[in-house]
Amino acid sequence: MKETKYIFVTGGVTSSLGKGIISASLGRLLLARGYKVTIQKLDPYINIDPGTLNPYEHGECYVTEDGHEADLDLGHYERFLNIQTLRDNNITTGRIYQTVINKERRGDYLGKTVQIIPHITDEIKRNIKLLGTKHKYDFVITEIGGTVGDIESLPYIESVRQLRWELGKNCLCIHLTYVPYIAAAKELKTKPTQHSVKTLQQEGVQPDILVLRTEHELTADVRRKVALFCNVEPDAVIESIDVPTIYQVPLKMQAEKLDQIVLRKMGLPYNSKPDMKEWTRFLSKMQNASKTIRIGLVGKYVSLPDAYKSIIESLIHASAYNDRKLDIKLISSDDILPENISETLEGLEGIIIAPGFGHRGIEGKITAIQFARENNIPSLGICMGMQCMVIEFARNVLRYADANSTEIDPNTRHNVVDLMEEQKGLFNLGGSMRLGAYKCKLLKDSLAYKMYGTDTIKERHRHRFEFNNDYKEQFIKGGMKCSGINPDSNLIEIIELPGKKFFLGTQFHPEYSSTVLNPHPLFVNFIKTILE
Ligand code: GLN
Repeated sequence: MKETKYIFVTGGVTSSLGKGIISASLGRLLLARGYKVTIQKLDPYINIDPGTLNPYEHGECYVTEDGHEADLDLGHYERFLNIQTLRDNNITTGRIYQTVINKERRGDYLGKTVQIIPHITDEIKRNIKLLGTKHKYDFVITEIGGTVGDIESLPYIESVRQLRWELGKNCLCIHLTYVPYIAAAKELKTKPTQHSVKTLQQEGVQPDILVLRTEHELTADVRRKVALFCNVEPDAVIESIDVPTIYQVPLKMQAEKLDQIVLRKMGLPYNSKPDMKEWTRFLSKMQNASKTIRIGLVGKYVSLPDAYKSIIESLIHASAYNDRKLDIKLISSDDILPENISETLEGLEGIIIAPGFGHRGIEGKITAIQFARENNIPSLGICMGMQCMVIEFARNVLRYADANSTEIDPNTRHNVVDLMEEQKGLFNLGGSMRLGAYKCKLLKDSLAYKMYGTDTIKERHRHRFEFNNDYKEQFIKGGMKCSGINPDSNLIEIIELPGKKFFLGTQFHPEYSSTVLNPHPLFVNFIKTILE
């Protein structure tokens, strides 16, 4: 397409309505019609990126190929669209202000008073249009975090208002709201939607399409009423009803003609049908699986499953491709003791040892790993999970009772996991880890090689500590295989125990790159091996 089209997705009434899933679903439908699509998330908080946030705040921190610590919605975009996102796909208020303030210090504003309008809004608009101009997409869908009316999101909504004028027909606004059902009155209520649209209008933006999240079907009356009160066409009032899986939402949105309405309003042909064959095949595999697979996820953030979003989604993909429904048990590593581990892992067919930071829950992870190793329970350790596998092996096989990571015990005499050389002397926590995709060479006669089917892979990282190469020979003598190595830095990225059914740890995060149409080979083969 000659000109990039920009679609904005805002939300009202409450958070957690699924703006990310609606954006990703619309993206999937446009992509399935042959367009080049990307999705961007604008986050109104002051942090430069979510890398320094506790997972309890916003869930998992996602990492892009180019090493940006990003909002977890980017994970949805990649999983739905089967594309790769970059640093440009996630902007925060902190980053916008940082750029503007740096420019001011350099004197770029030539003595002008620096203000929210136009300087902050100009910087926001520049970041939105960058995806279209630099990366040449047909569609850029921009999801605006938060809810309209929030103080923090005002500059973003103002930028959308300005862009509507600048872009004309190449700009479209979708607003997502909630329609509550009052059980006592047996009625769906549209007032919150009316108020939310009014707030948006007060800020100068008239939505073109309304997506109404609801637990009950919308009647024609409700749609007409919303259309009338909110200045939208009746067929542009879209129902987004609760469905058992997020992967059904693109098909729901197709049935509601969301993609057609978008195309029509933007003056593009809309009569052909999106090709959703592969997607539908995945979905029916997932929904028709009659047997379940029971996997345990051992980590310390289990009260908020969003902290492990990408791992859980990767397991869902892998289970579906193996004709299984995933039954996941989240296990708090804090609560694991040698006395209760057998009972805790009972009935589980495999376990994942989760990534993490700091000492809390580490001993529980190590106890779980020992039990799994000794009882041949298929285990996949990710990042800190892999590091715990290394520590456990050093303690119980190599007999270094005090073996540890220097992250946990800086004074250990057996620092089998240690701070990476380039991390020494770094004091800033933000954006300073080893981040993004790095190459890894696989040993030919390894499980890893068998699963990937190639000898060179690229996977995403997020860590400061690493297997200590001084111990490599001893680990190999003890029976561990170092099956994945970075060819440039020699860092050990994969370890495995050959005699076991499946015992493998990765320093990288395979979960960041599993998508619906391209499930990750490690997860797929983890489940497959269990079933064999
Ligand atoms: N805390 C460990 C490190 O920094 C592991 C990080 C992770 O699990 N993502 O190396």
